[in-house]
Amino acid sequence: MEVQLAVIGGGPGGYAAAFLAADLGMRVAIVDAEPRLGGVCLLRGCIPSKALLHAAKTMAEVEQLAEWGVSFGSPAIDLDVMRARKQKVVSTLTGGLAQLAKRRKVQVIRARAMFGDSQTLRLEAVGDSPLEDDRLRFEHCILASGSSPTKIPAVDLPTDRLMNSTTALELPDVPDSLLIVGGGYIGLEMGTVYAALGSRVSVVEMTDGLLPGVDRNLVKPLAKKLGADFEAIWLDTKVTAAADKGDAVEVTFQGETKQGTERFDRVLVAVGRRPNSSGLGLENTRVEIDANGFVQTDARQRTADEHILAIGDVAGEPMLAHKAAHQGKVAVAGLAGEPVEFAPLAIPAVVFTDPEIAWAGLTETQAKVEERTVELSQFPWAASGRAQAVGRTEGLTKWLVEPETGRLLGCGIVGHGAGELIGEAVVAIERGATVGDLAEAIHPHPTLGETLGAAAEVYLGRATDLYKPKRNR
Ligand code: NAD
Repeated sequence: MEVQLAVIGGGPGGYAAAFLAADLGMRVAIVDAEPRLGGVCLLRGCIPSKALLHAAKTMAEVEQLAEWGVSFGSPAIDLDVMRARKQKVVSTLTGGLAQLAKRRKVQVIRARAMFGDSQTLRLEAVGDSPLEDDRLRFEHCILASGSSPTKIPAVDLPTDRLMNSTTALELPDVPDSLLIVGGGYIGLEMGTVYAALGSRVSVVEMTDGLLPGVDRNLVKPLAKKLGADFEAIWLDTKVTAAADKGDAVEVTFQGETKQGTERFDRVLVAVGRRPNSSGLGLENTRVEIDANGFVQTDARQRTADEHILAIGDVAGEPMLAHKAAHQGKVAVAGLAGEPVEFAPLAIPAVVFTDPEIAWAGLTETQAKVEERTVELSQFPWAASGRAQAVGRTEGLTKWLVEPETGRLLGCGIVGHGAGELIGEAVVAIERGATVGDLAEAIHPHPTLGETLGAAAEVYLGRATDLYKPKRNR
């Protein structure tokens, strides 16, 4: 069998690339070992976790209604129904992708793919899906093989009490006590879900703060909330050993805030992900890989092998679905001869906890590392009418501004629904907007999105919902 474009991986990067290529007239095949399209994001990542986080958030909001004099009593949770509801979301979306592939005549091959050479994939059947041909020849191949959870040798036990993000999303039960190793995206999102369902959640994080790398003033309101919702948060601490005790996992800690052993009903390890670049036969091509296993590409997503491109998690940080999809489209547009490059000024990131944290463009942390002089302008949500009305005043919206020009370099938001607000900042940063542009654009009142305009007004000394005049601007 021969195609113009073979795509390895049916995740958000892979299917976006394949579908756009088909729309541009190419003959395309996607190869994925999974029986359904969608990749980790749709099948066992972003989407199922957001379905569960929706339930967690609604439960928290219902509880908060007590402040309004409305009480419903304790929730009754039917895990089977919750699991089925989450699966329905996934099935609807993956079914939609199958339809979209069919309408575009994109061939979806269920198989494990390995490069035989720079223009041939050797296919190995998976499950009971027979293969028409065990070789797929291509003019170009886009590698979109994603990433897998990193394991820690000290906590690698043959027990189902030990979970990774995939098994945690299956909601096997609501453990009485749950230890989460790693205070990053996955640890905090899944901790939020399990704490809402009733587990006593403890987090152990090896660095001195949750979400390392994220600006501290954005993390602060979340850390405060999780400090109340979780049983414990142990920072500067590592897990040095774990033992399966049958009815529990016994974990040994060594660190600043926790020492000794403690038993947990379940342990979730979420300490990062590594690129899926091994076992693909890349040694039979000219593709180059760096020391961390990431495939090296140029700004058009081309590897050192002229027939092979790479996108998404396997091609480098940040490992985010929307970055993968964007790179997929750049790769295909490049193959179609368009003058494109992957050179974003702002890749948004969102941690879907409650409150959410979202940022785009330059962060304060990064500016410090790069010794860049930036000015900061922030608007605390306590001064927002909408935040007061919905009882979510812990939020903060901030802009990082280039002093000489007033250009917006970065944005950070912590607060209810921050992930929905960051899109405006992405457009502003990408289009080279200034604080003046943001302040002059009329934002709808009363909304939380208004805080983006208000934070710009603060910079100019023209915010009237705060007392922060600056005579020179
Ligand atoms: P992460 O990099 O976000 O966090 C891992 C955390 O584990 C870090 O805080 C790290 O310091 C800590 N850690 C590492 N080794 C440890 C050890 N031995 N003991 C204790 N702590 C340790 O990784 P993740 O949460 O596993 O998520 C993986 C990736 O998946 C993320 O980087 C992100 O790209 C993606 N993701 C994104 C979202 C989202 O966009 N909302 C959600 C989930 C995952």
